[in-house]
Amino acid sequence: VRIKPGAPRDPGRRPTRQRALVARALQRQPRAVSAQELHRSLRRDDPRLGLATVYRALEAQVARGTARRFERQGHVSAYVACPPGHHHHVICDRCQRVSEIPEDLLRSMLRAVEARDGFRIDHASLDLYGTCADCQRKTRSVGRASAS
Ligand SMILES: [Zn+2]
Ligand SMILES: [Zn+2]
Repeated sequence: VRIKPGAPRDPGRRPTRQRALVARALQRQPRAVSAQELHRSLRRDDPRLGLATVYRALEAQVARGTARRFERQGHVSAYVACPPGHHHHVICDRCQRVSEIPEDLLRSMLRAVEARDGFRIDHASLDLYGTCADCQRKTRSVGRASAS
């Protein structure tokens, strides 16, 4: 976490305080959340927080490299907090849980691509989508219940 403790109290610095609020909320989320979802949960803490402010704060984090943006079905952007320089994730299509894929797990695949195509790979960004273990378990028990 790279958030400085103690948000500024000066009302003129309100956007900064709200950005810190958004950043902290995103850090607490184990799942990718849309601007609308984060806005809904933050309205309780700050009723004057606007959706546009949440959206801008999330995009600023993406630009700084402290968050990543994913595309959900229906062209909705979802965001997850991410350490700078990290780029590989596996995302559950059902519950939006995000797991980080460490660089060394991909190394052999990148070496194989380099060897096959004669490329020298400088950077990679890989998003894998699927169903997490919890959601698979839920689907299986629902399937059994409806079959009986
Ligand atoms: Zn990450
Ligand atoms: Zn899931």
